[in-house]
Amino acid sequence: MNQTALFKLSYGVYICTSWDEGNPVGCIANSAMQITSDPATVAVSISRNNYTHKCIEDCGHFAITVLAEDSDPKLIGRFGFLSARDTDKFAETAYEVRGKLPVPEGGIAYLSCKVVGKMETSTHTVFLGEVTDCDVLRSGKPMTYAYYHEALKGKTSVNAPTFAAASEPADAQKEVWVCDICGYEYDGDIPFEELPDDWVCPLCGMGKEYFRKK
Ligand code: FE
Repeated sequence: MNQTALFKLSYGVYICTSWDEGNPVGCIANSAMQITSDPATVAVSISRNNYTHKCIEDCGHFAITVLAEDSDPKLIGRFGFLSARDTDKFAETAYEVRGKLPVPEGGIAYLSCKVVGKMETSTHTVFLGEVTDCDVLRSGKPMTYAYYHEALKGKTSVNAPTFAAASEPADAQKEVWVCDICGYEYDGDIPFEELPDDWVCPLCGMGKEYFRKK
């Protein structure tokens, strides 16, 4: 079986949000899709390891915010590679409550959903959500997962449905510094020893102390 066939499926980059006893929580989801149009129903796959998973279970509602190619990459670092168990991802992320759910700033559209069904897999729950509110927030080109990988050099979180260790090739020829938090790899022109003290990871926003030589 050639599992690289799975890489030929296409995905988007979304922030899936919910409430944790009144506090906003969220994580990155790449597997979200429309299932029916009347009533509008979508499905999203969330790892049971994600804190947001528990919150969706408890709250019974979730929202999907569609990110664009020009959305701040730090949103992906913050929501995709940090955990709400120990990080308030919304501390530095402005949001509005739309359709009774938190919608982080920076997306181009949102769908607020009520959970109407779910399917358990070995690692993930596929939540089926009936759309209770949705709107387009601004113009912009929806970010695809391929764009995230190719243009932003983004990595796959181990909690993503599409994670496969073999799909994260090492850049063996160059000196590469990797962010321990989000997996971003820096192989640019500035030698690591000379990175400025205020260096921050362009994906997750963490400082240079979180970078190590690969
Ligand atoms: Fe990072």
